[in-house]
Amino acid sequence: MLYLDHAATTPLRPAAREAWLEASELLNAGGQYALGRRARSALDQAREDIADCLGCEPIEVIFTASGTEADNLAVQGLFFASSHNRILSSPIEHPAVKETVSALVKHGAEVEFLPVSHTGHVSVTAAVGQPAALVTCMWANNETGAIQPIAELIDAAGANPVHVDAVQAVGHIPVDFHQVGATTLAASAHKFGGPRGVGLLLARRSPALTPVLHGGGQERGIRPGTVDVAGAVATAVALKEATAEMAAERRRLAALRDQLWDVVRQLPDVTLHTHEPALPGHLNFTVSGAEGDSLIMLLDSLQIAASTGSACSNGVNRASEVLLAMGVKEQQARGALRFSLGRTTESVAQLTSVLADVVARARIAGMA
Ligand code: PLP
Repeated sequence: MLYLDHAATTPLRPAAREAWLEASELLNAGGQYALGRRARSALDQAREDIADCLGCEPIEVIFTASGTEADNLAVQGLFFASSHNRILSSPIEHPAVKETVSALVKHGAEVEFLPVSHTGHVSVTAAVGQPAALVTCMWANNETGAIQPIAELIDAAGANPVHVDAVQAVGHIPVDFHQVGATTLAASAHKFGGPRGVGLLLARRSPALTPVLHGGGQERGIRPGTVDVAGAVATAVALKEATAEMAAERRRLAALRDQLWDVVRQLPDVTLHTHEPALPGHLNFTVSGAEGDSLIMLLDSLQIAASTGSACSNGVNRASEVLLAMGVKEQQARGALRFSLGRTTESVAQLTSVLADVVARARIAGMA
């Protein structure tokens, strides 16, 4: 199987699996006895290692159960802590942020969206600096890989709190929480070779987030619940490894992605949706006259796993909202295909040798 859907999730790193197994016997890190202290010290070490990799203080690291949960706790937490109603977001956010922001409308939120260029990059406008409960923007887009002007956005936001969904960025490109100056930041372990079901929320001490979940006081009261120590330990190991390999891996993946693009661009009527600056492993494009879903099924029958990049609802093939926001026409957006390369991608030859034939067959099937 040639797995080219690393942006959806990437295989667990062997070192993370080993660390998880070793830590899986640890008990409740809140226990006041020796066994509790053992769990606590493993958790503290994981928190310190993660803080080291992401340029923050250990106390600013909050373990959650997913990137989605981290996004929810930050966006809602900042909104309810603020006396303002205005939320400034982008039209290309992942549902973890997009749906959270829209759910706040019934709590009085007034949502404004920043413009997005045809390259998939958000434009920072003067609206960012006008008083708001929060500004929220992703660091890198999950569908196109486009890296957003986060430093410029935070600069322009002035006193406004800024939440950054860095789920696609962390472990792949340098992310320094203090240097960039975000208020909160979300990451997810399964995107960089950690376990699925572990998220990270980086949160400054001020402004204090209004808790969304209620319970014991774990994780500064922002994410109450007994902490998954083994998950935290495995996440730290994966992040340390990803950070150490990052520079070389970026070059390696970009070279493989370029090889793939050299083949794709020879096909007739192809439009590229991944534009620099972008994550090194993403390649999103449309093949005119073919459904994205047909392409994926044909590739699947040839043991190649890829994705349209956007969530489809109830099996209905819908055009990607990200591509529509970039000005791509609906018919074009429905043909989109996303290949996302990652740590276990050694070659793309299996794909490049069949792609022209797959595209020709999908074009015969046509559009639904
Ligand atoms: N944000 C972005 C940009 C993502 O790509 C994803 C996952 O695809 C998420 C948030 C949600 O992360 P999780 O799967 O850990 O809930």
